[in-house]
Amino acid sequence: MGSLEQHGYHLPLHTDVIIAEKLAGLLAGRIDAIVAPAVNYGYKSQPNSGGGPLFPGTIDLNGETLLYFLKDIICEFAKDGVKEIFVCNGHFENEAFLVEAVDLATQEYPNTNVILASWWDHIKKDVVEKVFDEVEFPGWALEHAAIVESSLMMYFEPTLVHMDRFVEEEKYIPGLYHSYPVRKGIVPESGVLATARTSSVEKGKILTECIVDAYAHICKRTFAQQ
Ligand SMILES: [Zn+2]
Repeated sequence: MGSLEQHGYHLPLHTDVIIAEKLAGLLAGRIDAIVAPAVNYGYKSQPNSGGGPLFPGTIDLNGETLLYFLKDIICEFAKDGVKEIFVCNGHFENEAFLVEAVDLATQEYPNTNVILASWWDHIKKDVVEKVFDEVEFPGWALEHAAIVESSLMMYFEPTLVHMDRFVEEEKYIPGLYHSYPVRKGIVPESGVLATARTSSVEKGKILTECIVDAYAHICKRTFAQQ
């Protein structure tokens, strides 16, 4: 599950899709699974965590649309006899709607076991420390188009990363409330909420290995219980 969302000047709009798809492919190799086509759109990017509707190119789904999109897909796989499904999420704001989709789908198909995981939740503390060796970790909500996503993209799709276009912004402190309609100027102009400086292919590799290990472990433990 991904999104079509601005990722600053240096990363492509479909960054979340690429990362989710690549991680799913590596996981599939570890647990003998197949990868379904990715969902290229996601729930609305929020002004405080991704810039939201302020940026052209961010093409969002309403929550209800995303919920039933994933629910329908899970139900179709379940109908075809698939008993184990891993939903790999690559977009922060998708989470609540994906949980609801999985819940509703498995109420209809209780014999299908579904795991839902967002990759950033599976990065161990020591890996975070290695990745943020020079820069302070800003928290996952602000790690948008920043060091982690940029490093993963350098590792997965280096030709789509243009670090020469990266603009260092002043430190962004997000609001602790939502205010609508969304007004310009609440997030940095480039759309990047924390620095991407010090991103590297090596960091992308360390992050990937940590996430795929964790995913494989979860699958082996959860799917084995059936
Ligand atoms: Zn992203």
